[in-house]
Amino acid sequence: MAKSASSQHIPAALAAIPQQPTAADQSIARPGERMVPALIGWPGRQTTALIACPEWCEIDHVDNWAHALEDVDHYGEDDGWSTDSVLQPGDAVIELYARLHSDPVADSPAMREAHVLIGDGSASGDCYLTPEMAERAADELIAFASTVRHLARVARQANAAAGRSRRRVQQVELRKLSGGAV
Ligand SMILES: [Zn+2]
Repeated sequence: MAKSASSQHIPAALAAIPQQPTAADQSIARPGERMVPALIGWPGRQTTALIACPEWCEIDHVDNWAHALEDVDHYGEDDGWSTDSVLQPGDAVIELYARLHSDPVADSPAMREAHVLIGDGSASGDCYLTPEMAERAADELIAFASTVRHLARVARQANAAAGRSRRRVQQVELRKLSGGAV
């Protein structure tokens, strides 16, 4: 009997499934990576493994030990922006930070590759952007910054106009009090 069409297609379908990463893959450095020591295990039962770490990673994987090889993530240097408020001077009332990140054994290919992590320190967690998503976000942030600058200009002009109006009212009141012509 001839094989059914579906069974004939199975080997081809299996071949199309990309090989999934494993912790063992971390022991092979690819271009842009170097081998670094990583401390793995629970305190008292830890071992040092050599892992492939991207050149942009600033994590000391010995100081920042992990319970398992699969838990090792790579992080670049972080940079951020924050602002205080009239009502909370000196406090970082709103903050945003961004850094490079990769998780070598993540299910998602985009998470395994280098990408941009953006966070605000809130409980909602970090946001992971592919390079393309990060470029779009950057363009939108630049446009938003322009809006903030425009609002600042409008507020300053409104305050200046209100100040001139206040001064005029005060001058009129003073002339009334001194009996002068209004
Ligand atoms: Zn690393």
